[in-house]
Amino acid sequence: MERTMGLTCKLPSAATCPDGQIYDIWYPSVDTTAYDEREASTMRSMPASDDGYAVTISNVAGLGAFLVTVAPFANSAASAVIEGEAIGLLVIAIVLGVVAADLGSGLLHWICDSFFSEQTPVIGQHLIRPFREHHRDPFALTRRPFLRGSASNLIGATMVLATAWGVRQLTAGPGSPFADVWVASLGIAVAVTNQIHKWAHLPRVPRPISWLQALGLILSPAHHERHHSSELGRAFCITTGWLNPALDRLQVFPALERLLIPAERRRAVDVGS
Ligand SMILES: [Zn+2]
Ligand SMILES: [Zn+2]
Repeated sequence: MERTMGLTCKLPSAATCPDGQIYDIWYPSVDTTAYDEREASTMRSMPASDDGYAVTISNVAGLGAFLVTVAPFANSAASAVIEGEAIGLLVIAIVLGVVAADLGSGLLHWICDSFFSEQTPVIGQHLIRPFREHHRDPFALTRRPFLRGSASNLIGATMVLATAWGVRQLTAGPGSPFADVWVASLGIAVAVTNQIHKWAHLPRVPRPISWLQALGLILSPAHHERHHSSELGRAFCITTGWLNPALDRLQVFPALERLLIPAERRRAVDVGS
């Protein structure tokens, strides 16, 4: 059966697509009723966790570690606002934290789509596989609850926050509200990136989320479609997607590939393997 990239139907199965073709990504202009009913049925039949109590406990522990490490920075940020620090500077710090998270999401996504394999020791199953699986089945992440789908993000955010806290202790100087707000913004944005990515694949999201998507404050389905519809892979940033136009226009990732990969082994980014 012909496989069509780029798409007019959001349904993941040929059996449910009106024209009988398989599509790689959904497009929100079609009637979603049949899919919604099917998805709801699937969600109802799924266990609360598909990995057992041990994974659930580790996911909860990951959330706890994130909350503990973000707390001092969030507290500092709240104090800065209450004490009337320059609000304009704090807003800039928040925006720069989100931009840093967006850049980080793009770099990690590019690496995991482009290099290594699911058989690579240590990182293959835990880091590479979710990205490759996402291109084989873009809906898999929509079937996972927040803690399961965002476990890696929570761990990554905790590592960033713990490192920043360690640096703050080592420098032992007076805390900078700007730096603390930037770190809090970065950590929170990293933690929720995969949830934002999940929302970009869901046919229906809460209204406030759709407003944020429409305003471009978080990754939108239309923007993210560029990544799934391009055989060469583009638009790797998945927090807000703000950096994608510049990174794509400047051909940053192809340039990095030319730097890192010998010419004889260079290949197009294989987002489907
Ligand atoms: Zn990808
Ligand atoms: Zn995606």
